[in-house]
Amino acid sequence: MHDVIIIGAGPAGLSTAFWCDELGLDTLVLEQAEHVGGQLHRVYNPINNYLGLKARNGEELLGRFTAEIDTAEFDLWTQTTITAVDLKARRISLASGENLQSIALVLATGVKPRELGVPGEKEFAGKGMIESGARDRDLFSGHDVCVVGGGDAAVENALLLAEVCPTVTLVHRGKKLRARHEFTEQLQAKHCITVFTESVLTRIIGDDHVVAVEIQRKQGLKPFQLAVRGVLIRIGVEPNIALVKEQLETDENGYVVVNSQQETNMPMVFAVGDVSNPVAPTISSATGAGATAAKVMARRLTTKAAR
Ligand SMILES: Cc1cc2nc3c(=O)[nH]c(=O)nc-3n(C[C@H](O)[C@H](O)[C@H](O)COP(=O)(O)OP(=O)(O)OC[C@H]3O[C@@H](n4cnc5c(N)ncnc54)[C@H](O)[C@@H]3O)c2cc1C
Repeated sequence: MHDVIIIGAGPAGLSTAFWCDELGLDTLVLEQAEHVGGQLHRVYNPINNYLGLKARNGEELLGRFTAEIDTAEFDLWTQTTITAVDLKARRISLASGENLQSIALVLATGVKPRELGVPGEKEFAGKGMIESGARDRDLFSGHDVCVVGGGDAAVENALLLAEVCPTVTLVHRGKKLRARHEFTEQLQAKHCITVFTESVLTRIIGDDHVVAVEIQRKQGLKPFQLAVRGVLIRIGVEPNIALVKEQLETDENGYVVVNSQQETNMPMVFAVGDVSNPVAPTISSATGAGATAAKVMARRLTTKAAR
């Protein structure tokens, strides 16, 4: 029996564990991946918006986090597969056959990129699917590419790629791009970017590498093929809640609903970071939520009733 079990070791889970440790709670963190850090491994841009710490990218910031966390005393298990979670009993079953139990449980499972679900998307991973404009720019320099999405991330990536690619085709299913004005303004000045609104990418085509995409412009029109060497998909994210989906309150997009103390509707079950924050999913809000949850749990656990 642990005081606290935290599922997920991204910024939110690590911050929660760090605070729990400082507040004297017996804490275990379970992470499915080989390494801690979550989305920080996919941040290739400079991080200039985490107060007091600037970093060239997510890995550098993570290095600062882990240096600090290495001195803490909470338990951390990576490469741990959870097969079932009973939120009511705060009991966790692992693929190893082990069962764990805690007084408080924290969901810090973050989000994952939404998939388009078209033929070719999975097959061409690493063979023309661009993971990040910032990271893969040099790889696709001199080649035509296609970007799918209409929000900040899609447009920002299109702008980055347009610096090195002869043509960038931006495909967005909505009538208008959703990206912030600063990005859409820059887009107009980039003549190598073509924007197809009310359009969908229906197929990614290739042999041992992407060679083209199939695009359908407006409903009912015949799809056409466009020769490209790379495809980047940025159509948003979805919360990682498969383990607990049916057991607690979520919003219409699957984000865990919490109050100002990071409590879910299940007693002694908390949620922190992106999994419960559709409004401002950032590193600072994730670490801040961790601090809030830990303080609340510490207060609750000192009362006899909770133990
Ligand atoms: C390209 C990119 C650029 C970004 N740039 C910035 C920026 O400049 N500034 C900023 O503030 N934010 C930025 N962000 C957002 C920031 O990275 C996130 O807000 C932050 O990582 C959220 O932390 P989290 O711990 O809530 O979730 P995550 O980082 O998603 O971590 C969740 C963790 O939970 C684990 N997990 C999931 N399911 C399970 C399970 N079933 N069992 C065990 N473990 C599980 C995952 O493996 C992961 O390690 C960026 C994100 C991306 C993708």
